[in-house]
Amino acid sequence: MGSAEQTVYEIAVIGAGPAGLTAAMYSARQGFSTVVLGGEVGGQTAWAGTIDNYLGWQAISGQELVQRFREHVAAFDVTCREGELVSAIVPGEGDTFDLYTRAGASLRARAVIIATGKAPNRLSVPGETELIGRGVSYCATCDAAFFAGSDVAVVGPGEAAAEAALQLSKLGARPQVLSPAVLKVSDIIAEALDSAAVPVRAGVKVVRIEGEGSVTGITLRDTATRAEETLPVRGVFIETGAIAAAEFTGGLVETNERGEIVVDRMGATSTPGIYAAGDVTDGLGKQVIIAAGEGARAAIAAGRDLKRR
Ligand SMILES: Cc1cc2nc3c(=O)[nH]c(=O)nc-3n(C[C@H](O)[C@H](O)[C@H](O)COP(=O)(O)OP(=O)(O)OC[C@H]3O[C@@H](n4cnc5c(N)ncnc54)[C@H](O)[C@@H]3O)c2cc1C
Repeated sequence: MGSAEQTVYEIAVIGAGPAGLTAAMYSARQGFSTVVLGGEVGGQTAWAGTIDNYLGWQAISGQELVQRFREHVAAFDVTCREGELVSAIVPGEGDTFDLYTRAGASLRARAVIIATGKAPNRLSVPGETELIGRGVSYCATCDAAFFAGSDVAVVGPGEAAAEAALQLSKLGARPQVLSPAVLKVSDIIAEALDSAAVPVRAGVKVVRIEGEGSVTGITLRDTATRAEETLPVRGVFIETGAIAAAEFTGGLVETNERGEIVVDRMGATSTPGIYAAGDVTDGLGKQVIIAAGEGARAAIAAGRDLKRR
């Protein structure tokens, strides 16, 4: 790793989802030189089908909301380095930090806001990626309401799958839980599944998600007999956990047992000068509106910190 180039930004934002883009806008509005290093603009929001819980929009597609984020941020003096993934962050000279990208570039910043979100664990089966937002979902809170009256599969080994199935059932869908082994849930959740009459099938592995343009079924393999069958479903909810995208911090900031960055009420991490916002943090509620709000707050807190220094 060489030394960082001489460009010194006041605030560097890592991540271009709703948390990062809002942080960048709030940073620029305070007059700070601001750079965003991000993978895909919009982050997970770009994969969402319809978002109907972002205030001001009763229903907007994830893609359209992302386009509006992009236009909004472009109205401010923000350097956007799209597609540049940060591979390391290390303390630099004085009160600065040096950021290194996977492509070998580097820059220096006086304050850093980490907004790298999380990535749901994928099943990695044919049909999954192609049908995201077209019946394949990783977020029951976001998408359950679109499946009222439909048969849906919920794939996962434990509580998250059970809770997603209960949420779907409450909203009028007909879920069944598909688990690779005996479903690991508390007695209370097991009783709730029973009283909602949600079928649970254990000992099955997903082989393929079926459908052209939208989900029409899910093909399973029985792990004991290896027999395959296809269930007709309109939705597949994948509840196999998610990983916070914080490994590049290399222990510079404290993380919890789930790998999420621990923040205080201002979004400050354990390292002065580094803030975090959105799904990458240990905060409750992984939602667009929460990520955006946390991004705004982190930028305000970072700005106050810079003015004090
Ligand atoms: C299918 C689906 C449907 C959803 N539906 C809804 C909904 O209806 N309503 C709702 O409120 N929420 C919904 N969500 C959740 C919502 O999208 C997230 O809570 C929100 O996007 C989190 O924003 P974020 O900015 O924290 O992170 P993300 O959106 O995950 O963005 C992270 C950003 O960081 C970048 N990044 C990652 N690693 C690096 C790195 N090393 N260097 C640089 N950049 C990096 C990524 O490329 C991306 O730009 C849905 C999520 C999914 C997956």
